Amino acid sequence: MNSSNMIRVRFAPSPTGPLHMGGVRTALFNYLFARKNQGTFILRIEDTDQTRYVKGAEDYIINALKWCGLDFDEGPVQGGDFGPYRQSERKSIYKAFADQLIQSGNAYYAFDSAEELNTARKEAESRGQTFSYDAKTRLSMKNSLSLPESEFKKMLTDDIPFVIRFKMPDEACVVEDEDMIRGKVSFRTSELDDKVLFKADGMPTYHLANVVDDHLMEITHVIRGEEWLPSLPLHVLLYRAFGWKKPVFAHLPLILKPQGKGKLSKRDGDKLGFPVFPLQWTDPETGEVSSGYRESGYFPEAFLNMLAFLGWNPGTEQEIFTHDQLISAFSIDRVNKSGARFDPEKTKWFNHQYLIHKTDKELVKLFTPILRGKEIVPPPENELERIIGLVKERVSFVHELWDQTAFFFSAPQDYDPKVAKKRWKGEIPAFLQTLAEMFDNYDGSWDAALLKEKVSQLIQEKQINFGGVMNSLRLALVGGSFGPDLFTIIEILGKEEVTKRIKQAIRVLGM
Ligand code: GLU
Repeated sequence: MNSSNMIRVRFAPSPTGPLHMGGVRTALFNYLFARKNQGTFILRIEDTDQTRYVKGAEDYIINALKWCGLDFDEGPVQGGDFGPYRQSERKSIYKAFADQLIQSGNAYYAFDSAEELNTARKEAESRGQTFSYDAKTRLSMKNSLSLPESEFKKMLTDDIPFVIRFKMPDEACVVEDEDMIRGKVSFRTSELDDKVLFKADGMPTYHLANVVDDHLMEITHVIRGEEWLPSLPLHVLLYRAFGWKKPVFAHLPLILKPQGKGKLSKRDGDKLGFPVFPLQWTDPETGEVSSGYRESGYFPEAFLNMLAFLGWNPGTEQEIFTHDQLISAFSIDRVNKSGARFDPEKTKWFNHQYLIHKTDKELVKLFTPILRGKEIVPPPENELERIIGLVKERVSFVHELWDQTAFFFSAPQDYDPKVAKKRWKGEIPAFLQTLAEMFDNYDGSWDAALLKEKVSQLIQEKQINFGGVMNSLRLALVGGSFGPDLFTIIEILGKEEVTKRIKQAIRVLGM
């Protein structure tokens, strides 16, 4: 722990493209862990790989986390006592640490050109092997361990490009660690290669920068995706080589595709019919657009609630958690190590739950811009509240309210031909004509229950089939066989509109 014994965690994305929902889940679990333990949540941008830098990706990451309501205590935007928080701005820090490892015999200079490495790879392949730069091969390569001192020193003064590699221990040993989620994890060093720590372009690699920064930023817990587990032994050995106390590690389970096995990748997104990114992303090179949860109509709270359940469960039946409830219920002990299957239908269900729990007033606010976009003048607020209240159980997204309510705002342009064929026949149209006249002459209170009584009486008098009339009347008023209670629709549409619509249907569909 750091001097103040405070928990400090970080989310450390690389701006190599839009943030995948798995990345948001990592940020969320770090956030929940920090908030639950009154700790500090840090954003650090790991942008040392200049070849993979993508324009706009950092802004995207920051905007996506903002949309999700995951706020940082320290980061590139608000700063903090351990800055800068962008690794490209910390460039000058890392070389000294790489040198320190060389001095202590834990790292060495390597001068092999790309061509020489390629040749070594090809040679190994011709023997049916895979080349690995490690304890077995390093002395046959071109580095400060294999070359005489005078020679490699001259190469350094002559500015021959070099990288700095970590020197895996010569004698095979086992590196162990206690992962918060997986328990004891162990790795054989004989299976590990001498990873590059510092590159010829003067930048550290992920491994060096990540470990140095976690140390300098006094990170106490590293919570990250399972794909980083293979890097763990190197990181543990780096902490040892520096003589630093290492943080506690937790590797989160993979997020799996909805069907079958395999990790849900960035490329799966729109191919499988759902977004994999929090916000829509336009590729700056190709212009290709990938859909986002925000633009698809998801509430950020629903998206986060769904993500929380990818790998974690509260141990109870409760599924809907407010932001604060998630913070108090969350614990790393309840995170599984096996992969978490992503379920797009369940994701919609979460959104539906959040939608039906919003008040009709809140939904009016969200739905009004959609109506305006369709050039509909919104009805008075209380009327719109009533309309939304009638249909909200049937939708998962605010934009779907339109499909369920459009007929309240404008008369149907056409009539479902299947319903018309089945229902609009025999004595029905003539009866509807009588019904329209009845409505026209009606001067009682325009109330669903009273109108239902009136219509039922007329149906009885004329001895006509009740169900048949209801279905055709619905067809005339809404254009199909959907919608809430028919007499409530009639009440809301009003006398004049109902009469007009019945007459219009008779004109279009015939007598
Ligand atoms: N920069 C790494 C990434 O993009 C961070 C991995 C870690 O958290 O150590 O995920």
